[in-house]
Amino acid sequence: MWGVKYPNPQPGACLVSVSKTKQLHFRVAPKTEANGWTNRPGSLIKLGMGRLNEKIVDNVRILGFSMAGEETVIAVPEYNVCFDIGRAPREAVTIDNVCLSHGHMDHAAGIAYYFSQRGFIGAPPGRVFLPRILADPVKRLMNVWAEIEGHHSPGEVVAVEPLKDVKLRRNLIVRPFSVNHAGGALGFTLIEQRHKLKPEFHGKTGPQLAKLKMDGVKIENDIEMPIVTYTGDTATGRFIEHDFVRASRVLIIECTFYEKDHKNRASAGRHMHVDDLPKVLEAIPDAKVLLTHLTRRTELRFAKETLKRVVGEAEMERIAVLMERPPRGDRRRR
Ligand SMILES: [Zn+2]
Repeated sequence: MWGVKYPNPQPGACLVSVSKTKQLHFRVAPKTEANGWTNRPGSLIKLGMGRLNEKIVDNVRILGFSMAGEETVIAVPEYNVCFDIGRAPREAVTIDNVCLSHGHMDHAAGIAYYFSQRGFIGAPPGRVFLPRILADPVKRLMNVWAEIEGHHSPGEVVAVEPLKDVKLRRNLIVRPFSVNHAGGALGFTLIEQRHKLKPEFHGKTGPQLAKLKMDGVKIENDIEMPIVTYTGDTATGRFIEHDFVRASRVLIIECTFYEKDHKNRASAGRHMHVDDLPKVLEAIPDAKVLLTHLTRRTELRFAKETLKRVVGEAEMERIAVLMERPPRGDRRRR
């Protein structure tokens, strides 16, 4: 038998070979370490071979792909949340909660596929939080797919409103906020909620505190710890004034345009131009910043040089570009 050789095929990939009698043979590639699969229980994340890029930003692991007009999907696996769904890559399908910023195809095309793939990987139906304006169209889309496929892919479509919190799990919420892009577009901040004993109760014993609680005394302060803010697509806007955005440890923000003569394009499409960034950085002085949504038109090196010139060398210390990969042979470096 002769055929095509696939070095390290993806597990589950259909391998085709052709015999001397010109017959096609199909088999499914097994999961092996060679093709990048880990045997960690419960893990479906491929190692190193995906088209998603991995960044660790302030100890938050972010897996994503973002190219303007093509695809944007940003997964934060440890918090079980994915911002936008792009074309629903495998890594995103394993995540239970998707926050969809707006309905442009490069951010939203994979919704139906996301819902449908959840069943295939043995996961419970997925949840997609989205701007209210998109809820009905997405439900209709799923109905059309049910008609096409002959069965319905289960999933939850949840309309959300700016500044109305959504609970993801105990002590973890996501807070939507309006951004400056297509109709109803939202950004999202992932917030951990903690409870801290009020100073006046320090030194009390466990039973004493329990009694106070039973008597209806509020013995703890509620503290919010914003972890990641994702703006989706947006031009500059008042969203940078929100306290929870300013306090985020990580800011994932788009910056689509870098050329001087692309300012008009930026404002026409309601996107960021590099010249808009200093104002954002000034408003959000402590966050680590991850830039998304570059275009293929703009070379990464040019974008970074321009960025450095515009924001200054010191600010570059806290800025990373999602799609920048470490140099070959040094893929472990972040
Ligand atoms: Zn868009």
